[in-house]
Amino acid sequence: MAGWRENVREVEPYVAGEQPKQTDMVKLNTNENPYPPSPKVQEALERTAANILRLYPDPTADELVTAIADRYNVIKSQVFVGVGSDDVIAMAFLTFFNNPEKKPVLFPDISYSFYDVWAECFRIPYKTVPLNENFEICTEDYRQPNGGIIFPNPNAPTGLAIGLDAIKEILDANPDQVVIVDEAYVDFGTDSAISLLDNYENLLVVQTFSKSRSMAGMRIGFAIGNEELISCLMNVRNSFNSYTMNCTAIAMGAAAVRDEEYFRETTQKIIETREWAKKELTALGFTYPDSKANFIFASHKSVAAEEIFRKLRERHIYVRYFNKPRINNYLRITIGTREEMQKLFDALKEILGAYNGECQ
Ligand SMILES: *Cc1c(COP(=O)(O)O)cnc(C)c1O
Repeated sequence: MAGWRENVREVEPYVAGEQPKQTDMVKLNTNENPYPPSPKVQEALERTAANILRLYPDPTADELVTAIADRYNVIKSQVFVGVGSDDVIAMAFLTFFNNPEKKPVLFPDISYSFYDVWAECFRIPYKTVPLNENFEICTEDYRQPNGGIIFPNPNAPTGLAIGLDAIKEILDANPDQVVIVDEAYVDFGTDSAISLLDNYENLLVVQTFSKSRSMAGMRIGFAIGNEELISCLMNVRNSFNSYTMNCTAIAMGAAAVRDEEYFRETTQKIIETREWAKKELTALGFTYPDSKANFIFASHKSVAAEEIFRKLRERHIYVRYFNKPRINNYLRITIGTREEMQKLFDALKEILGAYNGECQ
């Protein structure tokens, strides 16, 4: 066997939801936004001349950073931007979860499945903290020695959110660790921990343009924290690649953040569709945690999730199924447009109806 293999960093990668190529599908499997980005983004794209690509982009991504700082009422040196929040969080793991005593980083057992992948890849010790039987995060479980904490709020894939008081409890119990709140879904009805930043220098809040701003394909994420945390992040980032944000991402991202009205309209539509979808799912015999995100994590009382997943797939309706302990009887269903959701419910009625028929 060739010796070089011994020198390879072997990792088990994150597996993203599939991106099928059909045109007639209903795609509810990767929590994308069913609405297009703001029309201002289209305008920014049309204003962009290919000739600017000759030059390196602004390494400070100033236009985008300024737009984010203005929107969230912080100063520019409190904002870090990256290639999706995946890039931001990866940089944060490298920067902040580096304690010499090798105490484990804590995150929930049922959570974003990229956290353990980064920890493994960067050789960061970690320990998963079980959610309770209702899939809730219990703050008292985060009072144990650790080398840092990360959790999504709302949590994925459960959709459950915790309040700012609970986040404060976790922060108060861990003044010597960086606590990262991954707010990928916060815009669908949860209070952001950004309001706590003045009182907690160890808090880093991460958000993304992929969900509430309909720009998953553009790859923009950001972190907001105190200036010292942000400058540490930049030092690590600049030790990899100073030009993570390309010219188009900077211009289009800034255009998206400035269009507050469109943002409110589309997130509100998704919230309304979600609440309607909950009622429809209940009527069909599903139960689910009370999601505050743009997806619902649902389990059927009599038909196995994997079976429903397969039958939906045959009909070109894609939802996400995780074959993992504790959650292997759940489907994570992204909230699409009302029309897409209606197609899902029509298909579910057929699928579940056939089961009722078989039993009689
Ligand atoms: C979608 C998601 C992200 C990452 O999204 P990007 O597209 O990389 O910005 C991060 N955390 C959670 C919990 C997510 O669901």
